[in-house]
Amino acid sequence: RAKDSGRNAIQMFRRTMQDAASERLRLENDLRLALSRGEFELNFQPQVDARDSRVVGAEALLRWQHPTLGPQSPGEFIQVLEESGLILEVGGWALAESCRACKSLLGDGLVSAEQFSLCVNISPRQFRQSDFVERVTRTLSDSRLPASMLKLEITEGIVIQNLDDTIGKMRRLKKLGVSFAMDDFGTGYSSLTYLKRLPVDALKIDQSFVREATHDSNDAEIIRAIVAIARSLGLETIAEGVERSDQLVFLEQQGCHLYQGYLFSKPLPSAEFRTLLANSRQRTELAQQ
Ligand code: C2E
Ligand code: MG
Ligand code: MG
Ligand code: MG
Repeated sequence: RAKDSGRNAIQMFRRTMQDAASERLRLENDLRLALSRGEFELNFQPQVDARDSRVVGAEALLRWQHPTLGPQSPGEFIQVLEESGLILEVGGWALAESCRACKSLLGDGLVSAEQFSLCVNISPRQFRQSDFVERVTRTLSDSRLPASMLKLEITEGIVIQNLDDTIGKMRRLKKLGVSFAMDDFGTGYSSLTYLKRLPVDALKIDQSFVREATHDSNDAEIIRAIVAIARSLGLETIAEGVERSDQLVFLEQQGCHLYQGYLFSKPLPSAEFRTLLANSRQRTELAQQ
């Protein structure tokens, strides 16, 4: 009897594993189709300077307009893209689309080249492509976007693979005018040695620290430490996931003035983001009169 039920449990386990595997395979196929059908879109989340409420940039975030399930967030599928290698194509598309979108904002006078940058997330696999620098260079020249308006968000995961290769690529891109932000800072294999050697321009304070910053003294201390490290290395800090004004007050007290989060705006479809820029621009111009 015990043996029987043991065997059943194993069979059930196998079936569950098979289900999971075929589920994954189906998702991978759906993602491949989504790419060819043009179901991916970008949303834009404003980045704001809290001191004057000016929109200083935006982060481009991938969305999948699923034909029946509606908009899907990358949390559900980014890992499948990465593991299957599809991220190379999707990421290349996201970079090109971001550059096109930003160039169009510039052309329509909604942003200025000196005061706005667009952040694009780059996956480890994408960054490790041997011709990554050439790809970015080509994308920039195709879109005719000033390189200084492009900021690439990388994660600590990129670094551990091959530090010298990473630094080399970053330096070449920086020569063009591209800048870098370290995303989700503090959640990966952060090492101060790496950080010191990497030519990054900004640290993004992960939302997991921001969330409880005003209630949890550990998170508060981590944020203080990140801002202090950034300051001593001459880097900017930008906080992500800011949802409440008490979080923003705390961040500003620590010296972090740049933020993105639902408090100001969630990620927006392109048309809505344009409207937000048009309105905020009008407000600044009126205030200056
Ligand atoms: P991330 O780069 O750390 O992006 C920030 C995430 O926080 C976004 O999730 C954004 O929608 C969410 N967020 C922004 N403000 C708030 C807030 O106030 N509260 C809360 N709870 N969340 C907030 P999203 O769009 O689901 O993206 C998840 C992750 O997927 C991103 O994390 C990034 O790692 C990855 N990702 C998104 N787009 C791309 C892409 O084009 N390429 C690559 N490689 N990865 C991407
Ligand atoms: Mg990011
Ligand atoms: Mg982040
Ligand atoms: Mg994050």
